Amino acid sequence: MRTPLVDTFGRVHRDLRISVTDRCNFRCTYCMPAEGMEWLPREEVLTFEEIERVARVCVERFGFDSIRLTGGEPTVRARLPLLVAKLAALDGPAGPVDIALTTNGATLELLADDLVAAGLRRINVSLDTLRPERFLALTRRDALGPVLTGIDAAVRAGLDPVKVNCVLMRGVNDDEVVDLARYGRDHGVTVRFIEFMPLDASGGWADDQVVPAAEIVARIDEVFPLEPLSAADRGSEPAARWRYRDGRGELGVLPTVTEAFCASCDRVRLTADGQLRSCLFATEETDLRGALRAGASDDALAELLRTTVAGKWAGHGVGTVTFIRPKRSMSQIGG
Ligand code: SAM
Repeated sequence: MRTPLVDTFGRVHRDLRISVTDRCNFRCTYCMPAEGMEWLPREEVLTFEEIERVARVCVERFGFDSIRLTGGEPTVRARLPLLVAKLAALDGPAGPVDIALTTNGATLELLADDLVAAGLRRINVSLDTLRPERFLALTRRDALGPVLTGIDAAVRAGLDPVKVNCVLMRGVNDDEVVDLARYGRDHGVTVRFIEFMPLDASGGWADDQVVPAAEIVARIDEVFPLEPLSAADRGSEPAARWRYRDGRGELGVLPTVTEAFCASCDRVRLTADGQLRSCLFATEETDLRGALRAGASDDALAELLRTTVAGKWAGHGVGTVTFIRPKRSMSQIGG
């Protein structure tokens, strides 16, 4: 018997974001320092069996139908396809659970077929620039070529949709907004522009670095005319979706900062070290790893999920005086 996991604002939770590692093979300047990140000790990271157990409780008790794996960089976790296969075998409320992955794409050429064979259906690849020198400066890795090859490999492997996530930052890469949109149109992938959020490791975020979603849409619309998709088409998906009037695909924008979409949020997050968070910006976590390792029953785990979601706030409040930055940065929470 599945009961929906509803918070005090009536939001039904169906989407689990799982960070499988805090480690990453890139050092994006806006996400991590060049040196000195302290990684979680291996024994603190959830095993695949522990991750599967939490996911199973979410699916079997609460009818979750969607799981996204992220990190850190999820593909640096050994045998990732094995975890995908375990999760893809879960019996969702209306068939198999929808399994997706967010990755920097650098090793996708090697992994895409194995991930698809394991049951992965959809993928988001992060790509903030199409210029090799800028890519090196932004990620501190000379890997634009492998990422572009990886995106093509994902399309060839049959992942659908393949989306490209791009964090647009004023004065850093916003001059490429039209080039990135064109790349999406030419490669049959949906580009999603993400507003820069105060979750950088250096704490250097400032609101004048945010390029508002409305400006992004206006700048692309001047070159490639756009029309909005209806709210019904958008569903609970956080990205505002637009379609090119000439029929050549879609564009997404995530206005996390300027037009927060908390009212339709349906997700909970599990960090690599087994802490449950009701919001990316939550300042409190629930220790599921401790419960798992102390032998908690499924009933007890379900209760921890219920109480965490019951305490979920109405909205993250970024940009308001009451906003408090979470202690952990994006890569440590799971973006
Ligand atoms: N390594 C994987 C990747 O590159 O997609 C998954 C983790 S990464 C933290 C997930 C996404 O978060 C990436 O698209 C990244 O660009 C984005 N991100 C990181 N820090 C951010 C910030 N401060 N604001 C907005 N997006 C951010």
